[in-house]
Amino acid sequence: MSRHNSTILHTEAQDHLVGGVNSPVRAFKSVHGSPVYFQQANGAIVTDVDGNEYVDFVQSWGPLIHGHSHPKIIADISEVMSRGTSFGAPHLGEIELARMVKERFSHVDMVRFTSSGTEAAMSAVRLARGYTGRDHILKFDGCYHGHIDALLVNSGSGLATFGIASSPGIPKDTISTTLVSPLDDIDAVRYLFKEYPQKIAAVLIEPLPANNGLLIQRDEFLRELRELCTDNGTLLVFDEVISGFRFREGSYGGFCGITPDITALGKIIGGGLPVGAYGACKEVMQHLSPLGPVYQAGTLSGNPLAMAAGKSTLSMLDDAAYARLDSMGERLEQLVCPILEKFGNPFRLVRLESLFWFSPGNEDPPRRADMIPSDAGEKYADLHKGMLDRGFMLAPSAYEIGFLSTSHDEGHIENMASALEEALSDMVL
Ligand SMILES: *Cc1c(COP(=O)(O)O)cnc(C)c1O
Repeated sequence: MSRHNSTILHTEAQDHLVGGVNSPVRAFKSVHGSPVYFQQANGAIVTDVDGNEYVDFVQSWGPLIHGHSHPKIIADISEVMSRGTSFGAPHLGEIELARMVKERFSHVDMVRFTSSGTEAAMSAVRLARGYTGRDHILKFDGCYHGHIDALLVNSGSGLATFGIASSPGIPKDTISTTLVSPLDDIDAVRYLFKEYPQKIAAVLIEPLPANNGLLIQRDEFLRELRELCTDNGTLLVFDEVISGFRFREGSYGGFCGITPDITALGKIIGGGLPVGAYGACKEVMQHLSPLGPVYQAGTLSGNPLAMAAGKSTLSMLDDAAYARLDSMGERLEQLVCPILEKFGNPFRLVRLESLFWFSPGNEDPPRRADMIPSDAGEKYADLHKGMLDRGFMLAPSAYEIGFLSTSHDEGHIENMASALEEALSDMVL
């Protein structure tokens, strides 16, 4: 498989864009490769600039739950686009998408749309601080909430991959109010609440941490977090930018029966266009400008194209869609697990419905970031290359997860499993 044209473009791109990319993990640095330049994408299949086709398990890192270029989504965006690309004024699409969010997130009375998940998480924190009048926030080692100064501490994959504990350019003062706890350790959280009594505005967590592997938390841990927050007048913020709308229940919170105070969303609700959102009950949301004093704004927020793509995407997420996503995930697990076993489990498959992760090592999958083996990247780089050369696009990082979409079918999964078997036989394990 030649990727000659991709290589030429990447060489050129490096003269104009930092590392040739606009988001670090796209650089293929941690899999010791060179990025593949896409030309076109349809359903589960992407075509690169050399004409190679790949079954795509990245799906734009999560937003494309119906696959690439879904005809209905494209048609809906086009129809709206013909009437204007941005209004800078209210329009019907915002109301309709907000209603759809509220249908699946029962604790949300009001929504504010942004243009990225980063903005949603950042604004949720500001709102929590404004609402409680407190400064401290508590986050978890290995959870990623976008590239926000105060939250870029012990974050997810991009940073783990590059071995940056925390980015330069962030003033000490900015993170002096950021407390960090390991995941799955309620005693550590309890200790922090005791050390900072009446000081913690918000506990921020990906209830399904999916940016540093897939670190499935025990429901009990999340339930205890909920109780600690309630007892201490602290707002619980679920960052569901990845997990929101991945599950029939709408949210991971709904999936495990735990209700946060504020939810941050992104990815799927924008259907492949730039979007973010956060929402809470009326009492909290009315602290936000123009009703209240907490300021947050955006020129392109509630953009009509993004609202249309979001509406289109959510409208197709019915029971049948979730049943399909889950059954594709189940098929993947059925086929992949015996193959991994045959090779002595160089990886373990962690799978929750349509999300999966090749967890490095043959131990039980970790629940905490610091339990991921430190040499995770090396073996994965070989696996990634082996799969790519056979026409299967996995995330270019050992710490990133795989995404199934409703456009994946049994054939894609079966072929992927055969390719995996071949790729593993080529590897020195
Ligand atoms: C992707 C992601 C973000 C950031 O969203 P962007 O749209 O990339 O800014 C925040 N939190 C979580 C959990 C994410 O997965």
